Amino acid sequence: MSLTLDLFLGKVTAVVLGIMQDGGLPHAGCRCPHCAAAFATPSQAKYAACLAIVDGRRDDPVVTLLDASPDIKFQLNMLADLLPHPSRAARLRPPDAIFLTHAHMGHIGGLPQLGPEAMNARGLPLFASAGVMGVLMETAVWQPLLQHIQPHILHDGQPVILGDGLSITPIPVPHRDEWGAGTFAFRVQGPNRSLLYLPDIDRWDAWPQARAVLNGVDAALLDACFYSTDELAGRTPVAHPLVNDTLARFVDLPTQLLLTHLNHTNPLLDEVGTHYQHVLDAGVNVAYRGQRIDL
Ligand SMILES: [Zn+2]
Ligand SMILES: [Zn+2]
Ligand SMILES: [Zn+2]
Repeated sequence: MSLTLDLFLGKVTAVVLGIMQDGGLPHAGCRCPHCAAAFATPSQAKYAACLAIVDGRRDDPVVTLLDASPDIKFQLNMLADLLPHPSRAARLRPPDAIFLTHAHMGHIGGLPQLGPEAMNARGLPLFASAGVMGVLMETAVWQPLLQHIQPHILHDGQPVILGDGLSITPIPVPHRDEWGAGTFAFRVQGPNRSLLYLPDIDRWDAWPQARAVLNGVDAALLDACFYSTDELAGRTPVAHPLVNDTLARFVDLPTQLLLTHLNHTNPLLDEVGTHYQHVLDAGVNVAYRGQRIDL
């Protein structure tokens, strides 16, 4: 996949860098048909959910990542044209900032790649809630990395300005919370359009503002971990809505709906399948790696 610099110049663009649940595809220890195929044919692998916001209005594009997935090295490489190292032609520079939604593996698992054993980023601005930053800071194994980052605490509903007409606002959402650290969705306001990034939420009915927040953006990337309880042998998922419920609640909104954070069991991974077609017929799309959304 070639995301060349010219695609981003003169505007602000969101780029989808991955659409899988935290464990990615293939999933550790899984021999389901999707995973077996991806183990056998690595080109069928798919990266964990991550979104980049690229401000290409300056000579040097500014790259902000929403979440640091375990696939971050591949995801940074997708942006190689945008991340030239200032002095070493054979290296990439780190992104300009990383915003964390929450502290589950798929959303922070890429951070160690920025530490001294790998990329050795210095002064990287890392934005997270006080709860998530606290969990990271109190964990000794993270210290070699965290000593060299620049921590910034995010506050509910308070926008962080990234550039002219470009801001990111954290919105708390209910999601499995082992440390009382909370989970954010991010509302990204660009100069022309707005986007909601919401990879993880437990249940729509546990978040009464859902409809109003979705109605207030031009596009929304939403948690579509499980299509139905068929994937869970009839059990209700502990920490994610089902795709049919998401469609039933929001499909009438004018918002462009894009599904992301798919579990390896999700039948939406079959792009020629009936479930995929059902979603398309409803006017909703499954996000894809490399997808660009103008902001
Ligand atoms: Zn997740
Ligand atoms: Zn699997
Ligand atoms: Zn999570």
